[in-house]
Amino acid sequence: MHAQLDWYDLTDEERKIRDLAIDVARSEIAPRADEHDREGTFVRESIDALGKSGLLGVFVPKEYGGMGGSPLAATLAIEAVSAACGSTGMSFMFHCNLIHVVDGAGPDSLKEKYFPQFAAGKLGAFAINEQRRLFRERFDTVAEEDGDDYIINGEKPFVTSAGEADVYIVQVQLSDVPSPIPVMGQRYILVEGAYPGVGAFVYDPMGLRGASNGGITLKDVRVPKENAVGDEPDPMVRSVATKGNSVFSPHLIALGCAGAALDEAISHARKSGSEWMSHTLAPLSDQLNAARAYTYYVARLMEGPVSQRLNHAHNEIQRLGGEVGPTVCDRAMEIVGGGSFMRTSPIQRYYRDARGSCYPAFSMEHRRANVADGLYGRAAYDEQPPSMPWDPHADYNFWLLWARGSMHLPEEAKQRMSREAFEDFARSRGSEEMTVELCAEYMTSAGRPPAGVGGPPGGPPGGPPGGPPAGVGSGGSPQPG
Ligand SMILES: Cc1cc2nc3c(=O)[nH]c(=O)nc-3n(C[C@H](O)[C@H](O)[C@H](O)COP(=O)(O)OP(=O)(O)OC[C@H]3O[C@@H](n4cnc5c(N)ncnc54)[C@H](O)[C@@H]3O)c2cc1C
Repeated sequence: MHAQLDWYDLTDEERKIRDLAIDVARSEIAPRADEHDREGTFVRESIDALGKSGLLGVFVPKEYGGMGGSPLAATLAIEAVSAACGSTGMSFMFHCNLIHVVDGAGPDSLKEKYFPQFAAGKLGAFAINEQRRLFRERFDTVAEEDGDDYIINGEKPFVTSAGEADVYIVQVQLSDVPSPIPVMGQRYILVEGAYPGVGAFVYDPMGLRGASNGGITLKDVRVPKENAVGDEPDPMVRSVATKGNSVFSPHLIALGCAGAALDEAISHARKSGSEWMSHTLAPLSDQLNAARAYTYYVARLMEGPVSQRLNHAHNEIQRLGGEVGPTVCDRAMEIVGGGSFMRTSPIQRYYRDARGSCYPAFSMEHRRANVADGLYGRAAYDEQPPSMPWDPHADYNFWLLWARGSMHLPEEAKQRMSREAFEDFARSRGSEEMTVELCAEYMTSAGRPPAGVGGPPGGPPGGPPGGPPAGVGSGGSPQPG
């Protein structure tokens, strides 16, 4: 097992969790990794071992029966598991990410319902992507209201732990939310794998072969409305902000695999004694540790509130890890030589699994775009100082949904989605400050005033006062992923 970076300020509890993860990974997970990779079978025993040791509850707060580990403790656990088996690491990471989103976005009733189950060994997964521009286009998976339930229909073509997870966080389009901004009419809803109408299929991928990479189908699935994620007044923005303010990302799997590959290369180079190998090893080690250090810093930032800095760092580590991880594995294979290409060497599995981690959440091109959006968004944000007090959460919404997407907006839309337009809307409601509620109302209804109430000045000609910008709708909205 590779020597993980001993981050300079690990607490005793974090060290204990990391050591437990290394121990479980070494004794229970690593011995099975090759077989699952070869056979393409789900890493069920490894997930069970994580459940038995309590590690599936590493990020579940203690009050719900979990370990209550810090973001950094969970990060180190995911990295250690990924070094032993990328497939188990990927399923584990999405599980922790689901817990993080519900923990940050609420509501408490969902934590009470599901967190004790996750701490006891149930597995969570993400069913988000459907080959649409995430957060920019309408989704085909639709939830319709039926009394106290939603009826969900659709298909998610890419899901890690497909058919194996107990609970999926599913991104749906609500049929009754009139917002012209697709993401504001969407919700994350927790769907249990055992609900009638939930089906699954599995692919035969080149890497992460034990992670049951497949898809899920949803046919007339009845889900209680209480399973919708996110506190009012802006459940989706809370969910998206929580997800995008996190260290949990597929790049952790790439870093784990790279650490394991580097260890193989180090032991080979030591035996061989060739000088050129040390020249190759050095930049692999320092790049990997630089990516780890940035990752651990992001984990520490997560202990504070959502912020522009954290969201930007989240996007940067995702891209950086996606680049460094496979590169380290690739160069480590060169050091080991032709033997590394054979099934008898674990290093080719590390390479394939690290490469596989470059798709989930966002492909590499989208990771680059996310970083660039953050760079442009900073300037767009600075150009529009507020003229009234803004609640910090409302201000983050403005930055995330408007400033960060400013590059994608047509000129006319930029004018209408300006800070000034938000503030005009608040004033039309008789407020001299921008609250979360007003911000959410402006975004979900595009600022349409209720019947009989006059709208703010500056609304688009021919449209509702203060209404949505032209060009914002399916495919045109600026939301970052
Ligand atoms: C192993 C694996 C596990 C996964 N697990 C999950 C999961 O658990 N949950 C989940 O929801 N999803 C999951 N996914 C799906 C993943 O999120 C998507 O594959 C990813 O977001 C890319 O989407 P896509 O495959 O539809 O590619 P597309 O969006 O069709 O993109 C194809 C290529 O074109 C590039 N591209 C697209 N648009 C542009 C543009 N405007 N400019 C430049 N380049 C562009 C992309 O970067 C990509 O390289 C998984 C995927 C894989 C491979």
